Amino acid sequence: MERGRYTYQLQSCVWELTLACCFSCRYCGSKAGHARENELTTEECLSVACQLADMGCRRVSLIGGEVFMRPDWPAIAQALTERKVKVSIITNGYLFGKDLIAELKRIDI
Ligand code: SF4
Repeated sequence: MERGRYTYQLQSCVWELTLACCFSCRYCGSKAGHARENELTTEECLSVACQLADMGCRRVSLIGGEVFMRPDWPAIAQALTERKVKVSIITNGYLFGKDLIAELKRIDI
């Protein structure tokens, strides 16, 4: 990317992957609970992951809602980590279990 006077290099981003959540807390800043009607498809998310990496983004924080409510979260996260983008996930922890932790380790979150 050509760097002009007003062009900035993207370093990190926060990506609200879904508004689906296992809870609907009254104090939720995102008003999470149900997924939006037109959330990105898996294919669209994988494209965004590639675009972020191509733009030089080095860190992505995935948030919701609850990221783990999306069954395709591993593919999306892996599309980032395999392109050397560091990924963190903000979670309420409710869905945590051994399998989920193993998946997080496998994908290198
Ligand atoms: S994202 Fe967090 S605060 Fe919002 S509804 Fe879910 S658990 Fe509650």
